[in-house]
Amino acid sequence: QTHKETLGFQTEVKQLLQLMIHSLYSNKEIFLRELISNAADASDKLRFEALTQPGLLESDGELRIQVSVDPQAHTLTIDDNGIGMSRDEAVAHLGTIAKSGTGDFLRQLSGDQKKDSQLIGQFGVGFYSAFIVADQVDVYSRRAGLPASEGVHWSSRGEGEFDVETIDKPERGTRIVLHLKDDQQDFADAWRLRGIIKKYSDHIGLPIQMAREHHGDDAPAEVEWETVNRASALWTRPRTEISDAEYQEFYKHAAHDHQDPLAWSHNKVEGKLEYTSLLYVPGHAPFDLYHRDAPKGLKLYVQRVFVMDQAEQFLPLYLRFIKGVVDSNDLSLNVSREILQSGPVIDSMKSALTKRSLDMLEKLAADKPEVYAGFWKQFGQVLKEGPAEDFNNREKIAGLLRFASTHDASGEQNVSLADYIGRMIEGQDKIYFLTGDSHTQVKDSPHLEVFRKKGIEVLLLTDRIDEWLMGYLTEFAGKSFVDVARGDLDLGALETAEDKQAQEEAAKDKQGLVERIKGALGDDVADVRVSHRLTDSPAILAIGEQDLGLQMRQILEASGQ
Ligand code: ADP
Ligand code: MG
Repeated sequence: QTHKETLGFQTEVKQLLQLMIHSLYSNKEIFLRELISNAADASDKLRFEALTQPGLLESDGELRIQVSVDPQAHTLTIDDNGIGMSRDEAVAHLGTIAKSGTGDFLRQLSGDQKKDSQLIGQFGVGFYSAFIVADQVDVYSRRAGLPASEGVHWSSRGEGEFDVETIDKPERGTRIVLHLKDDQQDFADAWRLRGIIKKYSDHIGLPIQMAREHHGDDAPAEVEWETVNRASALWTRPRTEISDAEYQEFYKHAAHDHQDPLAWSHNKVEGKLEYTSLLYVPGHAPFDLYHRDAPKGLKLYVQRVFVMDQAEQFLPLYLRFIKGVVDSNDLSLNVSREILQSGPVIDSMKSALTKRSLDMLEKLAADKPEVYAGFWKQFGQVLKEGPAEDFNNREKIAGLLRFASTHDASGEQNVSLADYIGRMIEGQDKIYFLTGDSHTQVKDSPHLEVFRKKGIEVLLLTDRIDEWLMGYLTEFAGKSFVDVARGDLDLGALETAEDKQAQEEAAKDKQGLVERIKGALGDDVADVRVSHRLTDSPAILAIGEQDLGLQMRQILEASGQ
């Protein structure tokens, strides 16, 4: 009846376990944050499901997490009365990794502890971090709504396999028992655990309880539980009362991340619409930033009740790296993903949250340029999708872009359009740029000769997405962009009357030569002209004003068009 079976972990889990145990050695206590975070998620899910099925709460509607230790047995227990897991769910969730791209991610790992621990941080540590401190983990769980006889006991030593059997579990929810390794016994110290809970889990919006300590002979027969965290959801508290450390811890819980965020923005909106948002800029790109089905979006709460993870409708795709929470008073608790697709409430929240995110990035760029430079390295490519996707915010997004330019030889993308405009020479009213495959290829391009001569800066765009981006970015601060490789380069007021006269004379002079070259090249070229954009090179290929750029041609050719 209990049907005990032994199953192997998915290969990826085995690799992750190995890695985790070895590379997170210096920060072991995070396992508690992960397990409490899971217990809190499980309670959120139950609360949500119970909205439509109140029976799921059984007679136990006060959700809480209890942490206890048994120094004699060398165990640490985390018990929740959340949604719980069925046997199948325990096998699926605690035996495999469902994230797409996991294999690719694991192949990037090098064996170098420091690098790997960073990478693991991008991946998210999760449940398996229990094995950093435990040499055996027992999970006892019953899913809300299932009978007491359909509990599950999952057990593993974190090596290659785990056991599952069906058990009786009258109380709904999940109890996780860690058998602490010999050298990790200090995690059986209640006082130390309280410290860790305060540090990592104070912001969790439900009570985390530990047994009240009793001294002398007056110990009561039953355990008295006492709440050790603050137990109010962080975003509901006033900004002035929240410390940076608390904001950072909350981020790690909400974003399932392991590293600190770069910036955050916490706002309460009142009036026609009422909602609170807490948005974060992560410190690093997740390993699956470019996977189509990678998780994105905000955690959605309605009147403090968790409704769903990854609500994608509140931010445009080019801001998919932004993490955080939005808690609405206007949406209905039984809102579905379909309902979220559009509607005036969603549209107006989306546009406000988009603006907040862009403001937060602007502020980061202004206040901490070095931090912003780091942000740009991680997410700049994604932000470049913005002008095409979000017409209304084009100018604002453009202000956040960073480019390499002829201003310095480094090839670093560190020039903003405002910097560029600040360095324009007298008479210049255009923003000049050149696209190409690599910095090495464009930096000595003959197209730049005339600009170098006149001391005009040119932006050098060599990311795959750049040509496409420039198709949508036509002006900034009233100045239009000009591709220096295209058509007849008109330098306007930058050319003196003498320049122009000299050009006309040269053109007349060389008419015969031009005809001969035209004859020789025939249909391979659209036109042959005398150019004034060169100072050293004899000839140059230019792209017609209306033609596709080279990068776009290559992309289309590669895709067989
Ligand atoms: P994540 O929290 O990022 O999903 P974890 O490795 O932390 O990843 O957890 C894996 C999954 O195991 C969870 O998504 C959840 O389905 C399940 N799980 C873990 N702990 C609990 C719990 N206390 N109650 C119910 N389900 C849980
Ligand atoms: Mg988790």
